[in-house]
Amino acid sequence: MKKDSERVAKAVTIARKAHEGQFRKTGEPYITHPLAVKKILEEWGMDEDTIIAGILHDTVEDTRLTLGDIKKEFGESVAFLVDGVTKLSTARNGMRDIDSYLPETKDNFLRLMIALGDDIRVLIIKLADRLHNLRTLSALPPDKQKKIAKETLEVFAPLADRLNMGLLRVELADLAFKYVDPRRYEELKTLIEKHNKSAAKSLKRIEEEISEALKKEKIHFELSGRVKSVYSLHKKLAKHNQNMGEIYDLTALRVIVDDITDCYLTLGIVHSLYKPMGGRIKDYIAMPKQNGYQSLHTTVITKDKHIVEFQIRTHEMHEYAERGLAASFYYNEQKLTENYKKGKIEHLPTNLLWITELQMTAAKLREGKKVDLKKLKLNLFADKIFVYTPKGDIIDLPKGSLPLDFAYRLHSEIGDHVVGVKINGKMSNLNKKLEQGDVVEILTSKNQTPKTSWLDRIITPHARTKLLRALRISSAYETEKAIPPLKKK
Ligand code: MN
Repeated sequence: MKKDSERVAKAVTIARKAHEGQFRKTGEPYITHPLAVKKILEEWGMDEDTIIAGILHDTVEDTRLTLGDIKKEFGESVAFLVDGVTKLSTARNGMRDIDSYLPETKDNFLRLMIALGDDIRVLIIKLADRLHNLRTLSALPPDKQKKIAKETLEVFAPLADRLNMGLLRVELADLAFKYVDPRRYEELKTLIEKHNKSAAKSLKRIEEEISEALKKEKIHFELSGRVKSVYSLHKKLAKHNQNMGEIYDLTALRVIVDDITDCYLTLGIVHSLYKPMGGRIKDYIAMPKQNGYQSLHTTVITKDKHIVEFQIRTHEMHEYAERGLAASFYYNEQKLTENYKKGKIEHLPTNLLWITELQMTAAKLREGKKVDLKKLKLNLFADKIFVYTPKGDIIDLPKGSLPLDFAYRLHSEIGDHVVGVKINGKMSNLNKKLEQGDVVEILTSKNQTPKTSWLDRIITPHARTKLLRALRISSAYETEKAIPPLKKK
């Protein structure tokens, strides 16, 4: 292991002193936590300032150390990072519970963004912090375990995914899922192990066949199996009505080669050996995923009827798929760090443009400039949309929400009296799906009463509950039979 630099060693000494007498729920001295965060950040290859900020990340909130002290000892940049982490946790503490975790109010949203926008390394420290907290979660009381685990699944694991930190996403999700649904976790884990055992023999043969073919073509390669994460299997099964027959990537092989040409050559070789399944060839090299993930995927059926997914990529793509943004820091450390210091942000990997957008928006907000929120695409949470009231309050709703969902979300008094809706300033109708960034104005009349037909024009349970209540009260509807069940999405 690398010896700590003088600055890092000094940070450890200061943190040790600051946290003296504090203990974690595990019974260990508190300093074990910042030291674990330090180690994680080192493993991710982060720069020295980030590592120091990681060591000090809990001092301002929990000890007598001040930002001023940190600035004096370690400079502006470290203080900036520690401040960002502290702000993030303040913002989080201000959010009531997991369902409204994400910036329900504009204030929290802005705070979160400003913290985000200051420096993306803040998020990376936060992720390291969360990872260690999860690794030691068993020390907390069960209700807290569940809460933190759920929050991890809903916020931190998707965040790791957005940053293309694949290894982290898998570890966070599986650690958390074990607490959220222990029975299901064990069930699926056993299932995966069983599957791996039964597939092991034929997998070995496939590996030999592929190796031989690649050697013949003089392609340098590394071959490795990929173990499917329990949580991703759970999510996939939920999507496919628990039908195991729809899961094609339980067995996957990774082929890592030297360059892009070899990726496509390898794909050809795989297809010449095995029959590819229609519709399952994906070229994420030519068309990377939104988080920058690149690979060729194909699912094939082997001679003995095994279904195997191949993931073919270069070493660089592999590194990036596992470590994501952290890998870019590692490769580009100097350049990136320098640019952050200068306030430049254009050197982020091109596929992480959403971060750039967030940072630019945050910068404008800090300068007190007007921000066109409509243009801001918040892609962190793919199943949610953010829409705005004409006054600029931010309401987050599930994707596919309709104007009545929005209206009931504001207030049942508003929902009950809807007569129309303007979307982005134009008259629209109640069947119109809301989209990311829409400005929604609900028109009401006090003579309006709720209608049963509205049940077809809402998708959120919240709105449905409110509407049903209003319908029962309303004398126009006497029997519940008249009320159709909630439509499945
Ligand atoms: Mn912490």
